[in-house]
Amino acid sequence: MKEPWGLGTPWKNSVAFFTYLRGCLRKAWSNNPIKHNLIKKMRYQIPNPNPRGSKKTVWGFDCQMCKGTFPISQGQVDHIQPAGSLQKTEDIQGFVERLLYVTEDDLRLICKECNSALAYADKHGISYERAVIEKQSIALIKEKKDLTWLRERAIVPASSSARRRVQIVERLLEEKEDE
Ligand SMILES: [Zn+2]
Repeated sequence: MKEPWGLGTPWKNSVAFFTYLRGCLRKAWSNNPIKHNLIKKMRYQIPNPNPRGSKKTVWGFDCQMCKGTFPISQGQVDHIQPAGSLQKTEDIQGFVERLLYVTEDDLRLICKECNSALAYADKHGISYERAVIEKQSIALIKEKKDLTWLRERAIVPASSSARRRVQIVERLLEEKEDE
């Protein structure tokens, strides 16, 4: 079979071609009627989180991972089994099947935070619960709230931020166990 990339084609190499193909398939996913039906089914009116908003209520949803309630703009439809990578011809069939051969049972409506925790978990080969904790600790350091957070829990903050992050993760894991 002739490859569609290379000299005399619009794509310099396979990387460029598969970037293009992933973009096309992502559009197919964003137009997917099963996805849109799921959103319509799950959404309901919630109090407007914007106190200056003109409407009393807005469309919202309950995240299927963290159970929090968010405006629908914060929602993402996630594949429970990720579509995975699409970098070579042999990946095409599996990728398209995982992406598009789905019913509502294969999908879940989740918040942006959970979506990014799942991506983090996937990337680092850890559980979703652990990823949430890792991301929480990173956020505390980034927002410079780590020292206060540790002192509030009667923990003497370590001298470096890397070690404070470990302290935070350990404490969050303990709290998780106590739940
Ligand atoms: Zn969530």
